[in-house]
Amino acid sequence: MSTLVPSSQEPTTQVDKTPQDQPKALKNDNPSFVLHGVDNVKYEQRPVPEPQADQVLVEIAATGICGSDVHYLKHGSIGHFVLKEPMCLGHESSGVVVKLGPEAGRSGVSVGMRVALEPGVSCRSCGLCKAGTYELCPHMSFAATPPIIYGTLARYYLLPADLVHPIPSQVSFEDGAMMEPLSVGVHSVSTLGKCKTDQNVIVFGAGPVGLLCMAVAKALGARRVIAVDIQKERLDFAKSYVATDVFMPEARGKDEAADAYCSRMSDLILSSLNIPALGPGGIDLTIEATGAPSCVQMGIHVLKPSGTYVQVGMGSNMTLPVPLFDVITKQLNVTGSFRYGAGDYPLAISLVERGLVDLKPLVTQRYDFKDALEAFEMTRQGKDESGKPVIKCIIRPPP
Ligand SMILES: [Zn+2]
Ligand SMILES: [Zn+2]
Repeated sequence: MSTLVPSSQEPTTQVDKTPQDQPKALKNDNPSFVLHGVDNVKYEQRPVPEPQADQVLVEIAATGICGSDVHYLKHGSIGHFVLKEPMCLGHESSGVVVKLGPEAGRSGVSVGMRVALEPGVSCRSCGLCKAGTYELCPHMSFAATPPIIYGTLARYYLLPADLVHPIPSQVSFEDGAMMEPLSVGVHSVSTLGKCKTDQNVIVFGAGPVGLLCMAVAKALGARRVIAVDIQKERLDFAKSYVATDVFMPEARGKDEAADAYCSRMSDLILSSLNIPALGPGGIDLTIEATGAPSCVQMGIHVLKPSGTYVQVGMGSNMTLPVPLFDVITKQLNVTGSFRYGAGDYPLAISLVERGLVDLKPLVTQRYDFKDALEAFEMTRQGKDESGKPVIKCIIRPPP
């Protein structure tokens, strides 16, 4: 029963709360989507974790599925990360802070706050953490990455308070979940690629990460954003989204050597799109988001002297030939890009908040928590029944 009380009679210490700010009542269960082995997932109840020290407990609101989640489901490992114990999947999430550890309030986080989750916890004391490159911390604990057994496809997830990033009211929970892959784009294009306005950027691979890299380049004011992919549907999508130009490499000739093919395609990219090999209008930045050997070669060939090459895609062949002659004689800046680090989440959120990046067209499918496995299968297929590209599948929270 509620009574109407004139506001002047309310005790002044009481904080006025709108219904949406009311702290959510904690539930006493924690349904979780748990990987036991290759193609073996189960729904399990896990204990509701208790926030310690500077930790906060987040009730998950939306989770995106990405290629790495599918890879664990289908192979049980990625590189030297091998599943040894049952592991809850999921790492691209947003939610609401529902409980604070005793020291968590210091960071400004409060109960009821809507947040994007940054799912990698570094040690904070090694040289790399102290130098501000915490993404390289050798002691990183990353959600749904062995030996860590926790993932965000659950009702609740624990994180240190500084790794939950507040999202403004105009940013949806789905957008909040997409801040994880968008931060990969920010790290590659802005933090490492140092993309500036009026530059020309080429992105190899028009999957989720490639598209987000294109979106960041466009948001930072790139003059041309060139998408390269071997699937026409993906290029059509890229063009309708943010790409200014698209290029689909021809098939390799029957007797054509790999190097000759890559040189021929690189020349074709430049000539067909009217891009000079050097000087104004040349390609300043390559983002390689496929890991395919031919794309690596083309990405280096097409750069103008003193250009920057960023490798973000992880292919199956990690010991591939690189045209070092180009790297040396054009004095290219070549770097790898791993996850995200200092400042990447805040910039990702800012770009979306200001309408410079629109994440909505990228969410192509939505699933209830009980149908999570379907989201994995759809992500694996990469196309829906009608042949349309599957960019990002979002899973709703447990009811
Ligand atoms: Zn991911
Ligand atoms: Zn560290």
